[in-house]
Amino acid sequence: MKHVYDYMIVGGGLAGASAVEGIRELDAAGSILLSGEESHLPYDRPPLSKKLWFGKQKVEDIFLHDRAFYDTHAVTLAMGTTAAQLDSGKKTITTANGETYGYGKLLLATGCKARTLDIPGSDLEGICYFRNLDDYLRTRGVAAEGKSAVVIGGGFIGSELVAALNINKLHVTMIFPGALLCDRVLPDYLGRAMQQRYQEKGVRILAGDKPVSFSRNGTQFITRTGKGETIASDIVIVGVGVIPEMELAKSGGLEVGNGIVVNEYLETSRPDIYAAGDNAFFPYRALGQSMRIEHWDNALNQGKWAGRNMAGAHEPYTYQPYFFSDLFEFGYEATGEVDAKMETYADWQKENDTGVIYYLRDGKVRGVMMCNVWDKVETARELIKNGGR
Ligand code: NAP
Repeated sequence: MKHVYDYMIVGGGLAGASAVEGIRELDAAGSILLSGEESHLPYDRPPLSKKLWFGKQKVEDIFLHDRAFYDTHAVTLAMGTTAAQLDSGKKTITTANGETYGYGKLLLATGCKARTLDIPGSDLEGICYFRNLDDYLRTRGVAAEGKSAVVIGGGFIGSELVAALNINKLHVTMIFPGALLCDRVLPDYLGRAMQQRYQEKGVRILAGDKPVSFSRNGTQFITRTGKGETIASDIVIVGVGVIPEMELAKSGGLEVGNGIVVNEYLETSRPDIYAAGDNAFFPYRALGQSMRIEHWDNALNQGKWAGRNMAGAHEPYTYQPYFFSDLFEFGYEATGEVDAKMETYADWQKENDTGVIYYLRDGKVRGVMMCNVWDKVETARELIKNGGR
């Protein structure tokens, strides 16, 4: 075996990097290996579809720590490394190039991968299933003013990137199967208002439609849709959801379902193995149910919590994460269970799209979305935790 580490973190994203901080809060000396499939140091993902497009942040500013941080904290980095096999009995990880590492405690912070479409031409070179920094860099490189883009998907990636491309003066067509933009989280009236705003900004929206094929005509992509539209564009971006990375967990015999199943200490079903971030199916204490959360703030805090628990803290994860989005002039922060299918109550000023939406189940507030209202997340958390009516 090549090396044995006290702590091995598989996943070089936000949860993985935060785990380093958590471990070092309690254990200054234990050896740490942080491995990630991407070659970049861990970075923040939200700017990829927001601030980087608006000149509010530069690529060099999105990295969570510089290399010196990892050196100072005695962390061995193995970026650009694919962990292929977990032996939870022998406590080893074998990489795709055949190296084997032993661990004392292991964190699986393997995140999610972009869901891909299975239609003719869906694997054409240049079609971007937008997920990581390289996707941003490639897209940014071709997204010049006056170019045309087709964006598939009307969720987080689709809605944010369409706004970003439109602001950068590209001609954008957006295609998604639902009736309204962001219809998983925004109630109808807000989705309708957003959709109207996008159209007023010049975005062409093909709602209730799906791509059925992609092809090329010279330098352009040709997207054909189920309703018979044919759109030529310089760029095609796809954001149709993500799938939790669980292959490694499965290879080690861990319990998986809608993510890697963990208890409130973020421990998986096998000893000394933890999971955190987008791929962890965890008990959300304030909501009294287990779920998986694919947002920044959860990865940040859950990673750190897992790191502390790996180093012996044994603290239940009680944090209530929030998420946020920026869609042109409209922005929101939200926490709890935010599902457009739930009953909602809005305290709302229509003229400036400002207000608070409460998501209710059995008369109790389970989620809160604060639209153009800032610094109220803590109040919302309290309301949910106390079973607010
Ligand atoms: P998403 O938010 O789940 O949205 C997926 C979208 O793709 C939905 O509009 C969905 O429509 C649509 N879709 C599904 N199948 C399709 C098909 N065959 N053709 C066209 N559209 C299709 O996923 P995402 O936008 O890809 O985002 C990926 C992840 O990044 C998410 O986990 C998200 O949480 C995270 N993210 C978060 C933020 C944030 O917190 N602000 C920002 C960016 C990304 P239906 O809903 O009708 O199925």
